[in-house]
Amino acid sequence: MSKSKAFKGKPTQWAMIWLFPLIAIGGLFYPILGYLMLGMMVFLIAISYYKGRFWCGNLCPRGSFLDIIMAKLTLNRPWPRFFNRKWFRWFVFGIFMSIFISRMVIAWGDWMAVGGIFVSMCIVTSLIAIPLAIITRPRAWCAVCPMGTLQENLGKMGRKAAKAKKNKMNNEQ
Ligand code: SF4
Repeated sequence: MSKSKAFKGKPTQWAMIWLFPLIAIGGLFYPILGYLMLGMMVFLIAISYYKGRFWCGNLCPRGSFLDIIMAKLTLNRPWPRFFNRKWFRWFVFGIFMSIFISRMVIAWGDWMAVGGIFVSMCIVTSLIAIPLAIITRPRAWCAVCPMGTLQENLGKMGRKAAKAKKNKMNNEQ
C-alpha cells in the first residue's frame, strides 16, 4: 500500500509532521526544543496578516499530524457547536494566554525552563487535541486553538486593510 493511498496529507504537511513528535516527545528530554515552537509561532503570526490560516492548512506540524494520522482513528462526528462560537474561541484563547504569560513571568531568566514551557504547552494542547480528534473530527482542536484564532483574526485585519487600500486607490483615480 503506497503512502499516498494509505494516508492523506499535502507534501508540505509530510515535510513538517516530524516536528510534532520531535517537540512533544523529544522536548521532554531536551526542553531547548521548545524554542522551535517559539520560532513557528513568530513565523505564523508574521505571515497570517497576509495569508490568514495558511500555516494551519499547509505547515503546522500538529495540524499535519491531525490530518494524516488522526484521520485514520477518528469517529468523524461533528464537534460541539459552541466550538464555532466566537466567545468560546476567545475564552480558550484567554485561558491559554493567561497561563502562558504567568508561567513565562515565573520562569523568565531560566532559559531552559522557558523552553520547557513551550514543550509543555505543546503536550497539554495535544492531549486535548488527540481525544477530541478521536471522538469528533481530526481537526476539532483547530476550531478552538488559540494560534488558529489569532491567525484568523490577523488575516481578517490584513484583508480589511488591503480592501481599504484598494478602495482608496480606486477613489483617487
Ligand atoms: S489551529 Fe492550531 S493546531 Fe490547528 S493547524 Fe492551526 S496552529 Fe496548528
